[in-house]
Amino acid sequence: MSKAQVAEKPAPSQAREPPRAFATGEAQERSRLRAVPLRARPRPSRLTAGITTLRGAGPRLAEAASELGIDSLGDLLWHVPHAYRDRTELSELADVRIGQEATVLVEVRSTKLRPTRRRRLTILEATVADASGPTKAVWFNQPWLADQLAPGTRVLLNGKLDRTGFKVSAQEVVDSDTPGDRSSPAGLHTTGIVPVHPASGRLRPQKIRDWAWQARRLAADAIEPLPGGLRARLGLAAAGDALTAAHFAETGEDVATARERLAFEELFLHQAALASRRSRHDAARRAPQLDPPGELTRGWLESLPFELTGDQQSALEEVDADLTAERPMQRLMMGEVGSGKTVCALFAMLRAVESGHQAALMAPTETLAEQHFQTLERLLGGAGLPSAALLTGSTPAARRRDALGHLATGQLELVVGTHALIEEDVSFARLALAVVDEQHRFGVRQRAALDAKGPGDAAPHTLHMTATPIPRTLSLTAYGDLDVTALHELPAGRRPVETWVVGEEKRAGAYEFIRERLREGRQAFVVCPLVSESDKLQARAATKEGERLAKGEFRDFELGVLHGQMKASDKQRAMQRFASGETDVLVATSVIEVGIDVPNASVMVIEEADRYGLSQLHQLRGRVGRGEHESACILFADTAAEAAKIRLEAISSERDGFKLAEVDLSLRGEGEILGTRQHGLPRFRVATLPEDAGTLLRAREEVLALLRRCGSLDAPELGPLMDAARLRFGDERAEPIAA
Ligand code: ADP
Ligand code: MG
Repeated sequence: MSKAQVAEKPAPSQAREPPRAFATGEAQERSRLRAVPLRARPRPSRLTAGITTLRGAGPRLAEAASELGIDSLGDLLWHVPHAYRDRTELSELADVRIGQEATVLVEVRSTKLRPTRRRRLTILEATVADASGPTKAVWFNQPWLADQLAPGTRVLLNGKLDRTGFKVSAQEVVDSDTPGDRSSPAGLHTTGIVPVHPASGRLRPQKIRDWAWQARRLAADAIEPLPGGLRARLGLAAAGDALTAAHFAETGEDVATARERLAFEELFLHQAALASRRSRHDAARRAPQLDPPGELTRGWLESLPFELTGDQQSALEEVDADLTAERPMQRLMMGEVGSGKTVCALFAMLRAVESGHQAALMAPTETLAEQHFQTLERLLGGAGLPSAALLTGSTPAARRRDALGHLATGQLELVVGTHALIEEDVSFARLALAVVDEQHRFGVRQRAALDAKGPGDAAPHTLHMTATPIPRTLSLTAYGDLDVTALHELPAGRRPVETWVVGEEKRAGAYEFIRERLREGRQAFVVCPLVSESDKLQARAATKEGERLAKGEFRDFELGVLHGQMKASDKQRAMQRFASGETDVLVATSVIEVGIDVPNASVMVIEEADRYGLSQLHQLRGRVGRGEHESACILFADTAAEAAKIRLEAISSERDGFKLAEVDLSLRGEGEILGTRQHGLPRFRVATLPEDAGTLLRAREEVLALLRRCGSLDAPELGPLMDAARLRFGDERAEPIAA
């Protein structure tokens, strides 16, 4: 076939037409997307069918799909692409540059199978041409294609040009005058806006794309959870149309419209689930209304050996207002370690006692509970101390019996403890306030158990505390059912921790610096590399590093080792020995993140710091700089990776935990923040933060408006909406996180 003949066929500029027709008249397209009527009678039950009902979905692939969370056809539809390749534009061969990915319409001149030295590799080469000239196209390991590519065949190729030729990743034989027909098997992968779905090694994107194409019409059977009025007002596409377009849109505009609608739906349903949980909680039981602050709390505040920070002051005011109301307080106090949360909690506890009630503080570990109890004894010492007790797993039986007896009669006014507080045989005479420290480490059920310890029909006021500050957008999704108080300011007198990122070449100098501090009487932490897959490996690393340092750099000092695999009593002992100054250096895994307060420790070393997340580094660093000594944090790190470099620069220049959390979020996306699950963040399928922050705020506003308008989210007309919300998010945060 001559060049002239090729030119007779639609030239590339004309050939571009059909695909581009999808992209014209954006506004018109959008209205088309919105105007497509739903199938007369959607049948949501069709979406529950398993994916093996699709062509090309056998049991083995179904298993791989299941690992991606895809079991039913509905799951598949909600498994929306995470990227799109725009192949709406056809290129001329002559215009394609080396390294560029492109789609071209060409005619095959000749093909040849080339043998290679490597047995398992076959290469198919074809000379192809369009009006702008010929080039060589290359396929790997698809010898059978030779049969389909007889000379003269017109074919649409998608691939990338490199020095040896056009490496084809997908092709479509064009046998009509309308190339770019998506419904042809290959056109699906080469033409228009090609969706790329999250996939795995066992389940390739191509396969998922193929399934999604088969299932696309079923989107019309998707339940429409959003009220019609709301959709009309906000101009949101129908659920089914949005789902279809999220997979197979014809323009970038359609993709954006579809995704926005789906993200809104997710965030809206999530906010609705949170709001409904909160309002059910509020409606179920009243809380004891406490008297305004009296002599006891006022005297206590005056007796404190320091001035409250502004943030603490506002926190106390907010807590105070909550406590005098009948609606049970559900407040989260967020502030990093040392920001003075415990002081605020003690204030609230005293308020309860002053009004003739009891208060309990629950912490996730014995060490933390003990520390809180000591703080409480220290800070309440002067205030005509109310009766207080510590209740943990290791409280001796006799003491425990005593405490339980006095709690039940009301003689004991304050109790600090661990999970031991929510055991069944613990009952309170008049529990008015429950404080939950490191609240993310407790499950919903555990918190509910404490809640149930309120007197009779009354719920205690609850103050949750967390030392992991997160940005506001995240706190709205993670804690949307709580009122949030943030403590940004650190109390006066706390010194910033000098933070250095150093490479291997400075290791000797760093150890010398630490030895100097040790000789001055200070103590040091050495934090071992994070081995996320295995506590055991991590424990082994810590033990080995401890041995190495004890024989090497720190041979003149006392060393202790602390890791998560040690028995509780051994851990306790290791911490105590370090706290009392018996050991100079504590070599530990990241377990020290929570629960150790040694003001004399002024240096911390973190090994392979590039493997830690920003927030985690910041938490770890918070373990030093707690006394009057100048403190330092030395981060050994490989800064080759760009993300690690940005992270480490941020940690060495910024000390505000909230700001660092924001950097962390923007660097990694909420789904990947280490320990995200600890924040109780739901897994969204479409929405991402912080990108969708605006949509989140809108969704929240709409839920609140709905609540105001209907009085309650249990109103019958909201049935379908709330069913969908509960189905999707009902059990969120239900699972306790292992300590
Ligand atoms: P958190 O519970 O947030 O970690 P704490 O309430 O335990 O913080 O406070 C940390 C330390 O700082 C405690 O020793 C506490 O007595 C002290 N502290 C709290 N508030 C202030 C303040 N406003 N000024 C000085 N020291 C404070
Ligand atoms: Mg604390």
